[in-house]
Amino acid sequence: MGLERWIGAWPVYRQITGADRLGRGKAAESRRSAGLGPRTDSADRVVDSVCPYCAVGCAQRVYVKDEQVIQIEGNPDSPISRGRLCPKGSASKQLVTGPQREQKVRYRPPYATEWQALDLETAMDMVADRVLDARRKGWQDVDEDGKTLRRTMGIASLGGATLDNEENYLIKKLFTALGALQIENQARI
Ligand code: SF4
Repeated sequence: MGLERWIGAWPVYRQITGADRLGRGKAAESRRSAGLGPRTDSADRVVDSVCPYCAVGCAQRVYVKDEQVIQIEGNPDSPISRGRLCPKGSASKQLVTGPQREQKVRYRPPYATEWQALDLETAMDMVADRVLDARRKGWQDVDEDGKTLRRTMGIASLGGATLDNEENYLIKKLFTALGALQIENQARI
């Protein structure tokens, strides 16, 4: 390395001779950092999304390359979060791409010790059968004085804090239409 280049590699020299007099930018930059770029630079496209973890609903930008999620950042356009994500939201790429994420429906029958794989259609049919069965078994048409009730005591719903407004709205509508009374959300407990 020539003397001039060697001296020029000193941050203090660059600070004194360059535009970055406070030494907080270019003057303090190493050669390695000068060659680095943001992980989001290589994305093919960016998809707007919402953090799935909690009811705050911070907005996200999902960076996609070759149809794979490569990074998730806060979306500054959001009036709720204005580009911020908490540590959980910042780590939500792991939720999407983690190797331990289950991609198939898993079912453990009563008294079984092992999980088994089910196709989604079978699983949905099983859920529907159980809902209808519980509704029928817990159905009350009238009370002891003959007054109309038309309700079921066989179903209760407890929503989690990751549910957003729209999901809670639909869940409330569904279970009320089924005749359930006990419809709650974790956020109210
Ligand atoms: S988990 Fe964090 S980033 Fe996600 S919605 Fe809640 S506060 Fe926002």
